[in-house]
Amino acid sequence: MNIAIIGAGPAGIEAASALASKHKVTIFEKEERPLSNIRDKAFLFPDFSSANDLANKLEAKIANENVTLQTSVEVLDIRRSDDKWTIVTDSNESLNFDYVIVATGYKIFDARKKEELGYGIYKGIITSIELEKMIKEHSILNNMNETPRQIVFLQCVGSRDEKSGNNYCSKVCCVTAVKQAIEIKKQHPETEVFIYYMDLRMWGEGFEEMYREAQEKYGITFVRGRISEASSTFDKRVQIKAEDTLLGTPLTMNCDLLVLMVGMCASEGTSKLCKNLGINGLYGFADSKSPHIEDNLTTMPGVFVAGSCKRPMCINDTINDARSAAITILNYTK
Ligand code: SF4
Repeated sequence: MNIAIIGAGPAGIEAASALASKHKVTIFEKEERPLSNIRDKAFLFPDFSSANDLANKLEAKIANENVTLQTSVEVLDIRRSDDKWTIVTDSNESLNFDYVIVATGYKIFDARKKEELGYGIYKGIITSIELEKMIKEHSILNNMNETPRQIVFLQCVGSRDEKSGNNYCSKVCCVTAVKQAIEIKKQHPETEVFIYYMDLRMWGEGFEEMYREAQEKYGITFVRGRISEASSTFDKRVQIKAEDTLLGTPLTMNCDLLVLMVGMCASEGTSKLCKNLGINGLYGFADSKSPHIEDNLTTMPGVFVAGSCKRPMCINDTINDARSAAITILNYTK
């Protein structure tokens, strides 16, 4: 069988490696390199292992003559022709496959849409993606290129938010904030760190322990509250206006960096592709046939789905889901 996989993130790579012993696999990736989402990270939760090491291990798994990886290639169209699927790429190629796995991943919520939080308007207001880069490069600095005295995190930016149109929880940003806050304290023990949250959803193995350690070992302060507005101050710091929802009191505080924990969304590419295939689900994500035992199947025979193109998912769950997609194909009869 010839199988096409769209997306070379952890889902696409793991599914390819699991299928390559029996089938020919072609992976299409629009970025220059596979696994760029993992490579952009410094450390992984909950064990603070190196993200780059994981990316290298995953990439090594597709060093197989049955796997072809096409990078910097965008899939423009997928069409059914008889019992095959024809994939048309932006390099004017038209290739036929028996099965297709959609593993296109997610995109990050555009924080500019939350104008009241000042992202893109005031300096010192950054996203969790930008902070991750600073952590990785050991360059956590404020607007004056100094070590920040106070850093504030705000959870649920673009998730669980009717105004953004995203009512769902992005699932990974609570634990990511705790991980990043610990990393800040490891690099700069003197920096005060505050996390403003609606609820803390520390659902995975080892996550609750990280939360405990964040408070007891690293002295990170958790504030149950919402930030309604952020702006800059005359001395190039960031002022936030918030409400402590436990005490029911308004509060104002200044900090050097405000980190917006941006949620996971369906990319335009995923939404368009899924619409074309007739497998579009809620919020533009891909829709599986059923979330229980048919979560890698779709209503379109021969089209399968894996990973966070379906819904927000952490890397470990994504990898497991990709293996599940591969098993589904290995047991599939046309
Ligand atoms: S994981 Fe946490 S921060 Fe992210 S949307 Fe859910 S509750 Fe909000």
